Amino acid sequence: MMKRSDRLRLEAQARRERARGTRQPVAEIPPPVGVGGAAPRQPYDTTNRPRRTAKASGARGDYDSARWKSESKAYLERNPLCACGCGRKANIVDHVEPVQASGDPRFFDQSNWQGLARFPCHQQKSADDRAKAAGRKPRPITIRGCDAEGNPRDPRHWWSKG
Ligand SMILES: [Zn+2]
Repeated sequence: MMKRSDRLRLEAQARRERARGTRQPVAEIPPPVGVGGAAPRQPYDTTNRPRRTAKASGARGDYDSARWKSESKAYLERNPLCACGCGRKANIVDHVEPVQASGDPRFFDQSNWQGLARFPCHQQKSADDRAKAAGRKPRPITIRGCDAEGNPRDPRHWWSKG
């Protein structure tokens, strides 16, 4: 039979150990926001982040495919100028009729391809496609900045008029 004093001592020890086990180590408790600055930024936990699927991302997966990379590269070598006639170098293959779903047969149909300058021609085309799909009126994109001579890059800029 254990002495009462021994039992009380062991119970107190067990309580202390339980308390230690559940207590957060001091270093992991972030300082309260607004006291001595904001809480330190915690690294974003990506463990359970949903993966972007081909279904959710439309045709995105096809753009990552080896076939698209090699065929679009070869296409731009054969068609080096922007199809809009601006004289810029084409550096992106665009679908004349936009494709959405992955596995769309027109995705690799080169008769539906055109080479465009990424900026501003392809950016404008994409904006037009999105507007059309949403039932909106296409709007000209804003072309910011100027060239090495300091002239605005946007041909519609008031500076270029007159
Ligand atoms: Zn162009």
